[in-house]
Amino acid sequence: SATFRTRGLTKVYGEGAAAVHALRGVDLEIPEGEIVVLLGPSGSGKSTLLNIVGGLDRASDGEAWFQDQNLSEMSDRELTLYRRDHVGFVFQFYNLMPSLTAYENVELVTEIADNPMEVERALELVGLGERMNHFPAQMSGGEQQRVAIARAIAKNPTVLFCDEPTGALDSATGRAVLHVINDVNRELGATVMVVTHAAATAQMAHRVIHFADGQIRTVTENDTRLSPD
Ligand code: ADP
Ligand code: ADP
Repeated sequence: SATFRTRGLTKVYGEGAAAVHALRGVDLEIPEGEIVVLLGPSGSGKSTLLNIVGGLDRASDGEAWFQDQNLSEMSDRELTLYRRDHVGFVFQFYNLMPSLTAYENVELVTEIADNPMEVERALELVGLGERMNHFPAQMSGGEQQRVAIARAIAKNPTVLFCDEPTGALDSATGRAVLHVINDVNRELGATVMVVTHAAATAQMAHRVIHFADGQIRTVTENDTRLSPD
């Protein structure tokens, strides 16, 4: 069964001569439990697609479904609950609270989540069991991104969305972060969707969607998947 489906998904920013057609009719299916990598050049509409299926933004036209729920028909309140209960987000820049420890950054999310895991477990899953009381400024970029992943998974999300998760990291640190994302998929069974322009990220994907100019160009199933270690 599919975690997501879209039909004719369209997004236009602005109007008239200034209109930007970010998505031009996207038909997509993301199977449950897979790691799907959406690969394409900067400005091709990847983040826009992620934000719509992640309930952060709305389509201009077409439909997006999460399981059997039509996101286009949800009220703002329903979208907020959808994000709270089902969606974990990881961005390029970790967006941690600088005045809080790793533990406290993760705890913030577990306090409002419907079905959270223990804060310690989330930090152990990303390999930071020994760094729980460190502040962001005391951690490397890769460690901070792992805290951000712990924060995203602590709510036990159905789906983990990662937008350029290694974009601010050197390649060795980036590989370690991809390894953690791979573990999250394996240990928790969460569907994972990663958007990136970095082709190396595609090696851990079950499915690679090549995206350009607001449209899907090809979808490749990855039979020779490598774990990124
Ligand atoms: P990608 O993630 O592939 O880099 P984006 O989804 O960020 O692509 O952007 C797709 C297109 O939409 C780009 O031309 C971008 O400039 C434009 N765009 C994205 N967000 C906005 C916005 N909030 N307002 C206007 N244009 C936007
Ligand atoms: P460089 O260090 O020259 O930038 P990379 O770090 O991109 O190169 O890749 C180094 C090696 O690690 C290559 O053999 C590449 O195939 C492999 N690699 C990179 N990313 C991944 C990944 N996500 N999964 C598996 N192997 C990877």
